[in-house]
Amino acid sequence: MSWRGRTLLITSGPTRERLDPIRFLTNASSGRMGFALAAEARRRGAKVVVVSGPVAVEPPRGVTVVNVESALEMRRETLKRAPRADAVIGAAAVGDWRFETPSKHKLKRSRTLKRMSLTLVPNPDIIKEVASSSRRPRVVAGFALETRDAVGSARRKLAEKNLDLVVANKAETLAAAKSRATLVSRDGVRRLSPLDKRDLAARILDELERFLEP
Ligand code: C5P
Repeated sequence: MSWRGRTLLITSGPTRERLDPIRFLTNASSGRMGFALAAEARRRGAKVVVVSGPVAVEPPRGVTVVNVESALEMRRETLKRAPRADAVIGAAAVGDWRFETPSKHKLKRSRTLKRMSLTLVPNPDIIKEVASSSRRPRVVAGFALETRDAVGSARRKLAEKNLDLVVANKAETLAAAKSRATLVSRDGVRRLSPLDKRDLAARILDELERFLEP
């Protein structure tokens, strides 16, 4: 069974949570991993849709990109499309929090104000909602980027979020050209050799292929 004719939906890039029209809270994510997966799936004949937060890199050709800003927008655009997808990969660095009451106007500096508190509220877990939906796509995968115990946390995420595969990565590999990822599924743990994003994308899609089978 291959990716030809299959629909793959990918969330990618960071989200941006507005405090006011000028300021926002965001995550470090270039969007390169999501686009590498999109390009590789396209090469394999899949129809690819990427729901992408704000990124500076160009998306690959032949891929549909839905641009979003906040986690709530990413959730809406992803949940709308997920039931029609054969597979969904959560490669986005979704902000865990958003401002409870963003301001319509720019917040002004005040000379008298010595301290300011901002209240954050949690964002929904998009990939978890996709994987627990009654119209769950056949394959749902995610990433676990951690500063320590990436594999242990990937195992927990696999169960908690009801995923088929979690790609575990150490946070220090974020800026590196090659990263040593581990693929965690119910069948076990597969440690990969250091790979660049294109080769890692290929390995992830190889791995997911077997879940596509009926
Ligand atoms: O729980 P954690 O954020 O580490 O999980 C990472 C995985 O979950 C990634 O695949 C990410 O895209 C996805 N995620 C999500 N929605 C969130 C948080 C994470 O889809 N609010």
